[in-house]
Amino acid sequence: MHLNLTETQQRFQSAAQAFAAESLADAAAGFEAAERVPPEIYRALGERGLMAVNVPAEVGGSEAGVVSYSLAMMAIAKACASTAVTMAVTNMVGEVVAAFGTDEQKQAVCPMLAAGAHGAFALSEADAGSDPGGMRTTATLENGEWVLEGTKQWISHGDTAAFLVVWARTDGAGPRGLSCFLVPGDAPGLSVASHEDKMGLRASHTVSLAFENLRLPESALLGPRGGGFRIAMMALDGGRIGIASQSIGIGEAAYAEALEVVRDAQGAQGLAFRLADMRTRLDAARLLALRAAQLKEAGTPFSQEASIAKAFATESAWTVCNEAVDILGDAGLVRGGAAERALRDVRVTRIYEGTSEVQRIVISRGALRG
Ligand SMILES: Cc1cc2nc3c(=O)[nH]c(=O)nc-3n(C[C@H](O)[C@H](O)[C@H](O)COP(=O)(O)OP(=O)(O)OC[C@H]3O[C@@H](n4cnc5c(N)ncnc54)[C@H](O)[C@@H]3O)c2cc1C
Repeated sequence: MHLNLTETQQRFQSAAQAFAAESLADAAAGFEAAERVPPEIYRALGERGLMAVNVPAEVGGSEAGVVSYSLAMMAIAKACASTAVTMAVTNMVGEVVAAFGTDEQKQAVCPMLAAGAHGAFALSEADAGSDPGGMRTTATLENGEWVLEGTKQWISHGDTAAFLVVWARTDGAGPRGLSCFLVPGDAPGLSVASHEDKMGLRASHTVSLAFENLRLPESALLGPRGGGFRIAMMALDGGRIGIASQSIGIGEAAYAEALEVVRDAQGAQGLAFRLADMRTRLDAARLLALRAAQLKEAGTPFSQEASIAKAFATESAWTVCNEAVDILGDAGLVRGGAAERALRDVRVTRIYEGTSEVQRIVISRGALRG
């Protein structure tokens, strides 16, 4: 494993760090209070190539690889975790469309997302979270049109997405019954049913969506009919590297605030040792995330490594944020502090794109296969 960054990776990391310092770090508390990130933030991320980092250049992406993406994600998430989740999902949707879309689908969607529009990933339902097998949304072919009926829940920025990748049942029960569709955000028959009131990531909208007689042309099918489960699993494998990176960035924000306190409390070895453990966790998590990113970038199997990185990074980042609040003492509980917001924001990283238990299913299966 190479630990030295290439010129491209350094450039993307620096661009993300500079943007985070200039436009996000001081603004993030205001975004949280307003419960939205302004659209110009995403346009600016698009101008810097950060909304489609690992998407081919021929469809408008940066083609800068998975390691660049991971490093950029850590930098953006350190400043604003809500901005980071929209960046993560949009990058993931861009990659899915670039990998499975027809030329027409790629040209319609990828350049727009690369420029800063939002892409949403609509897989989860009330009875289909960890196990997409419980999916009830259906897509039926009627006179050359797909008709979607059903509901999705917990969809990040499903209310502002220019395009959504939506999973639906086309061919009965079981994984082979699922297919994937590209749905424009303004499609008639698509509506936002409710907004979630979450403990963290408050500037990132999470919504339920309803599909009622949502009619799509036959060409809206993304990938092969019946291939939806495979597409979801491939997307989530890659997405887990993004969420591991996001959690590391959030952990770094809490760590930075705790570091100042420990510096001021010179000679307090108890605090310094806690800080040492926090630094060790974050560094180990970063190495695991970059290992998974390198494997994906090299085109080698990376599913198990992505799950290892996600489980370890998100659980470590949670511990780091919790420790930071302890080190800050009462000040750590006051709204508006970096560690306080980080502790609330980081919690969900252990849940979305596969809970820690789901990661352990993947890791143990791989380990037992040898
Ligand atoms: C803020 C936020 C944003 C989200 N954004 C999106 C999005 O953009 N798109 C999208 O499709 N989804 C999204 N989700 C949904 C998310 O992916 C699901 O919440 C997640 O997959 C877990 O599903 P669940 O909540 O239904 O939990 P469940 O699947 O009901 O799990 C409940 C508990 O049981 C455990 N469990 C489940 N199965 C097993 C098993 N086999 N073995 C051991 N333990 C098990 C879980 O680990 C968990 O602890 C988002 C969620 C949140 C909170």
